[in-house]
Amino acid sequence: MNIASNIKTLRVSLPPQVRVVAVSKFHPTEQIREAYGAGQRLFGESRVQELVAKQQELPRDIEWHFIGTLQRNKVKQIAPFVTLIHSLDSERLMQEIEKQGAACGRVIPCLLQVHIAEEETKSGFSPDECRRFLEGNRWRECSHLQIAGMMGMATYTDNREQVRREFRQLKDLFDESKAKHFAGDPSFRELSMGMSADYPIAIEEGSTLIRVGTLIFGDR
Ligand SMILES: *Cc1c(COP(=O)(O)O)cnc(C)c1O
Repeated sequence: MNIASNIKTLRVSLPPQVRVVAVSKFHPTEQIREAYGAGQRLFGESRVQELVAKQQELPRDIEWHFIGTLQRNKVKQIAPFVTLIHSLDSERLMQEIEKQGAACGRVIPCLLQVHIAEEETKSGFSPDECRRFLEGNRWRECSHLQIAGMMGMATYTDNREQVRREFRQLKDLFDESKAKHFAGDPSFRELSMGMSADYPIAIEEGSTLIRVGTLIFGDR
């Protein structure tokens, strides 16, 4: 695995509005340093313990994104430094992020995670739950948390049309929500969709952040 060349190859294929979150979960810090050496500054982790350990060891100018299921009792550990949480999926989690953001004097940007795949999972709002969350307006009372967009994962399948349909569904919800709740608010702007296997389709459907692990670092 030549991590630096993997990153460079990936980057040249991307349109300018798309940023790469290098998903480094389960990979050691030497590999992250290699990516860092190739200019990568944006990394994603899905476990709090692992993220905190890596953040302490690695350069300060890395932007750390949290992309996994987030337990409320662990928010406190990442609140001081996390630059984007991709997995906000309940009002109770929102309240905890707001509380911990206040405790460290930060505004923490978060994406609403929406469940678009066919597969059963506990994480993510359904599209209707997401609409109700936004219509409930409780998020407007948060001054230490900012809703910065949406995140979703497509079904893991070879059926490209299904994947495209699911991404399109998320993009439609994103556009609808932006028009309804964030008109004139530039902070709602990120659409996190696309992984190693499906990022080209996600980009065609309007992604602004792709979360790529395997293609950069190899198998986990
Ligand atoms: C692991 C993970 C990724 C990266 O997956 P790859 O297939 O290795 O690119 C992206 N998003 C989330 C939420 C993940 O947990």
